[in-house]
Amino acid sequence: MQGIILGIESTAHTFSFGIVGTDGKLSPSKSSLFRPEEGGIHPREAADHHSDSTARLLDSVGKTEGFEWGDVIAIAFSQGPGLGPCLRVGASVARTLSSTLEVPLVGVNHCVAHIEVGRNQTGCEDPVLLYVSGGNTQVIARADGRYRVLGETLDIGIGNMLDKFARIHGIPFPGGPEIERLASNIKPSKEISLDEVSLPYGVHGMDLAFSGMLTSAIQKVSEGVPLDRMCWSLQEHSFSACVEVAERAMAHTGKNELLLGGGVACNDRIREMATIMCEERGATCHWPEKQYCIDNGTMIAELGRRMLECGIYTELMDSAINPALRTDNTAVVWD
Ligand code: AMP
Ligand code: MG
Repeated sequence: MQGIILGIESTAHTFSFGIVGTDGKLSPSKSSLFRPEEGGIHPREAADHHSDSTARLLDSVGKTEGFEWGDVIAIAFSQGPGLGPCLRVGASVARTLSSTLEVPLVGVNHCVAHIEVGRNQTGCEDPVLLYVSGGNTQVIARADGRYRVLGETLDIGIGNMLDKFARIHGIPFPGGPEIERLASNIKPSKEISLDEVSLPYGVHGMDLAFSGMLTSAIQKVSEGVPLDRMCWSLQEHSFSACVEVAERAMAHTGKNELLLGGGVACNDRIREMATIMCEERGATCHWPEKQYCIDNGTMIAELGRRMLECGIYTELMDSAINPALRTDNTAVVWD
């Protein structure tokens, strides 16, 4: 039967609804991004933003070309990981829609959704995933029916690190795109003394760390290093660390595809570094369109579709959110 799966994303700053056809055709999401007036993301304030945006976003989904509420065969939602108050808003909307439309509910793992939307868009089959987002930084590969976390950040996510550096220097959330713009002004060979901009490099075996890098970068700007040079340096150090761990994961697993996902995968420099690494080892590098790198409802719908195809859905009594859900908690039974 042809139909539509509606996906709801609400793990952190983004509240988003997206749809995917049962044939796997993705449609752009309708999203609203919570931007704090000052400071970082307060979970309660973000959750209020999500509640306040619900009616407008649902109205907007309803007006998508070719969309009929009667064609919706399931509601997928992010069950975790994420901020509890934000997840709860998405789960409540999902339960309401599921019971109103009398269609199944599918609770999905947000991190796994980043992988599945990337596989759908790029056609890669069995990649190592470099998942670089606001709250998460992980290197993941499939083995024995799970997406296994081979390495991850030991402190903050790479996107949070970039956003904090930006915020301290007056750049509003999300800071990553502006850091990329400032860094692109720099021609390293001519303008930069590497001693001036070197930062602690946080690779520990297969794991990563970014808080030392962040503290040092802030310190150096306060001592007079120009902001655009430090943006460049921050990108070079943090992206190199991620690509190094991704390469080690490819070597250990023998896999020859790399898939980038998460909001930081929008960055042209990390894409370039990852592509060079893959070319050097005869592997291929892939990433989805930017709209599917950042958090979006469509990726939640896509994972819901894969799960439903295998007969997996979520009973109402099992639909509680799990803020601490791990990537490898979810059994992966689809191809
Ligand atoms: P996500 O948590 O996956 O929705 O991604 C959001 C994160 O991606 C935020 O930390 C952004 O600063 C970051 N981000 C978005 N675009 C870029 C970019 N072009 N370069 C670096 N980081 C980015
Ligand atoms: Mg994400």
